[in-house]
Amino acid sequence: MEKINVLGVPIHKINMSEALHKSIEFLKSNEKRVIFTPNSEIIMMAKDDKNLLNAIKEADLIIPDGIGLVLASKILKKPLEERVTGIDLMENILDYCNKSKKSIFILGGKPGVADKALKNISKKYPNIKALGSYHGYFKGHHIGQEGHDEEKSVINLINNLKPDVLFVAFGAPKQELWIQRYKNEINSNIFMGVGGSVDVYAG
Ligand code: UDP
Repeated sequence: MEKINVLGVPIHKINMSEALHKSIEFLKSNEKRVIFTPNSEIIMMAKDDKNLLNAIKEADLIIPDGIGLVLASKILKKPLEERVTGIDLMENILDYCNKSKKSIFILGGKPGVADKALKNISKKYPNIKALGSYHGYFKGHHIGQEGHDEEKSVINLINNLKPDVLFVAFGAPKQELWIQRYKNEINSNIFMGVGGSVDVYAG
């Protein structure tokens, strides 16, 4: 997959249908795969934050979630076809998970939000195995609190359930750094940073 470089941050030069195709390919493999959805704000953050930049560089699918990126790509003479938003890709992945009876876990958001989002998703997509959720304010995912017992128990919970897709909604850069730090310890196929999308699903 071709990448473009916006202020030093790599973005895949893809449209929605290609992004979905890639995501399905990831789900069919047993490899751990990471999907991030940077917008212009995150690009600006990554420009000054080496850790975030490294986390983005290590991701397997980096979609252009911002009209600013589409404009930048035109200036760079490597035009992106369209904006591919995180929430649209999440919706398409959920639709595929419903058709193929895959399982999901939602991690993040204020207490109650991920649970509500999971219930709404289950209503819309009854064949998805909605394994569970946990809020995003547990102790451990803040810098300096790593390895806290609550974080360990969240990781154990997810590992016992083995979701095909783990949606992580801590906002940027927390979700990107957390996924990069823990993906090797967590039993999931796809790790996707989804930010505020979980609030949207919660309604
Ligand atoms: N969030 C969280 N833990 C935190 C900080 C934020 O779970 O420590 C959640 C917050 O409740 C919200 C989500 O992260 O549901 C995304 O927040 P935001 O809208 O700021 O992110 P964006 O979509 O802009 O990346």
